[in-house]
Amino acid sequence: MIDTHCHLDGEEFHEDLDAVVTRAREAGVTAIGVPGIDLKSCDTVLEVCRRYPGYCFPMLGLHPEEVRADWREVLARIKPFLNKGVCVGEVGLDFYWSREFEREQIEAFEEQVRWSVELGLPLMIHCRKAQNEMVTLLKRFKNQLPGGVFHCFTGNELEARELLQFDQFVLGIGGVLTFKKSKLPETLQAVVPLERIVLETDSPYMAPVPMRGQRNEPAFVAHVAQRLAETYGVSISEVIRQTDENCKKVLNITA
Ligand SMILES: [Zn+2]
Repeated sequence: MIDTHCHLDGEEFHEDLDAVVTRAREAGVTAIGVPGIDLKSCDTVLEVCRRYPGYCFPMLGLHPEEVRADWREVLARIKPFLNKGVCVGEVGLDFYWSREFEREQIEAFEEQVRWSVELGLPLMIHCRKAQNEMVTLLKRFKNQLPGGVFHCFTGNELEARELLQFDQFVLGIGGVLTFKKSKLPETLQAVVPLERIVLETDSPYMAPVPMRGQRNEPAFVAHVAQRLAETYGVSISEVIRQTDENCKKVLNITA
């Protein structure tokens, strides 16, 4: 199993990172994607990935919630790190908390989408309350995009269909799938083939049932895989085989 989105460099893991990684290995996690969110995390993400070579893979970029008026300077300082990353991320749009920097978010996202095209690196995309704006922007680059992940997908059938029109992209599915009131299993069954899904935890956030409310960690991705197996009526080993294959196709992560 590959956990494609896990903030292992977060301070939540400072105390027991080795134990967390050991539990992940024991649970069958064979690789972990570690996304950056800002300039400082370029260092912390790369440090974690150097500590676990061939197991943790760095993704670097400016997260929409971290975009401020100085985004141009910040991006100019992040870009040189990209030659060490497997992916541009996590980047995107987030209008859930605030639209204060809406324009800047859109401009910073567009610049990083250009990086993806220029460098041939896939995108790890975060999008919240902004799918129309994101899709409009991405469509302008549709034929040049190398691919990527729409991380933490929780939308409806229409939204899923709209995202799947980007051929080289997959949906990142995490803990929300396991929540009791989630409509996500029905949505996935209806319109998303297993060939278009990768697993993620978004640790330390979004812990799946039965760990809900706890600090999330990569080992818990097994609960997501289990629920996906039930959703598609296939074995868990088939879920793992297919999502690993999807991951290798779309992200530069190799287990
Ligand atoms: Zn994230």
